Amino acid sequence: MAKSGVRRALVTGGAGFLGSHLCDRLIADGQEVLCVDNFFTGSRANIAHLLGHPRFELMRHDISFPLYVEVDEIWNLACPASPIHYQHDPVQTTKVSVLGAINMLGLAKRLRVPILQASTSEVYGDPLVHPQPESYWGHVNPIGPRACYDEGKRCAETLFFDYHRQHSLSIKVMRIFNTNGPRMHPDDGRVVSNFVVQALNGRPITIYGDGTQTRSFCYVDDLIEGMVRLMRTPSEVTGPINIGNPGEFTMLQLAEAVLELTGSRSGITHLPLPKDDPRQRQPDITLAKELLGWEPRVPLRTGLERTIAYFRETLAG
Ligand code: NAD
Ligand code: UDP
Repeated sequence: MAKSGVRRALVTGGAGFLGSHLCDRLIADGQEVLCVDNFFTGSRANIAHLLGHPRFELMRHDISFPLYVEVDEIWNLACPASPIHYQHDPVQTTKVSVLGAINMLGLAKRLRVPILQASTSEVYGDPLVHPQPESYWGHVNPIGPRACYDEGKRCAETLFFDYHRQHSLSIKVMRIFNTNGPRMHPDDGRVVSNFVVQALNGRPITIYGDGTQTRSFCYVDDLIEGMVRLMRTPSEVTGPINIGNPGEFTMLQLAEAVLELTGSRSGITHLPLPKDDPRQRQPDITLAKELLGWEPRVPLRTGLERTIAYFRETLAG
């Protein structure tokens, strides 16, 4: 515990999309925050408003190397999350997922503090069970272009559970489903940022494949609430636990909603479906409801309106 008696949180990947919202939330809750990031996909702009805050500290560091700090809890979010970014340097993606997990778990073990892992719905791969409950073991191609991320995150989950069994570490494994909101990277290739930026710039909306594949989109505020609730559970709650919005939409439906909400006259163009692109994805959130009393509140269209407002402002500036 910090001298002041305030809980000190380490947020890895804190300058990224989700990490920066988590930093905001923890600062608002009165905690101290040590944000550790190597700025691979994150930016100082995402946390610029926190830089002068007396309870906020920023450290540039790559968590695939050891880190020696004193904190009361660890939120491990560092890892590129969009297919374009994580496939840019796939070996580094596996390193940050696996070596990063080992380093952060080692830190948690030395300090005897709880640690939360930002895992992903990608551990289910192209799922054969729908919607996906946590008990489903997944359907992942171990040698495809998405494997550096999917298998990296799966191995990280293995490490978390082995540290829990072997060293009695308090772990919280959260499986995050597609999330959107302000501070998404405009060029990260994810579907929501792509469609919104294309619509606002009057360029054609790029649908990969026929657009019948589905995803479920959670708004960032809901996601962060679920994350915080999970971290605050008693130590016997380990997860894995799905956090996402069960509302399921095809990419065609998403494109139509973005066109309507932006008032854009962009057309739609179809591009080839990337290899191993999952056909469908929808979280089963029964466990999150039971254990965390959590369910998303922000419907897709409301979340999209806020994301669109953010990109409108960013692109104008
Ligand atoms: P993001 O790319 O915006 O943020 C990741 C952050 O990690 C960035 O700030 C980046 O610079 C940092 N980082 C990357 N490699 C690092 C390293 N070696 N050392 C230190 N920092 C490093 O992505 P995001 O959407 O905010 O995702 C955050 C976490 O949530 C990731 O672990 C991701 O796998 C997980 N997740 C996100 C989603 C989603 O829809 N956004 C879905 C599932 C899982
Ligand atoms: N997608 C699309 N057009 C784009 C970007 C993505 O049709 O410009 C599709 C992509 O093929 C996938 C879905 O949208 O089926 C979600 O892609 P994203 O990269 O956002 O996330 P993930 O595939 O990791 O869920």
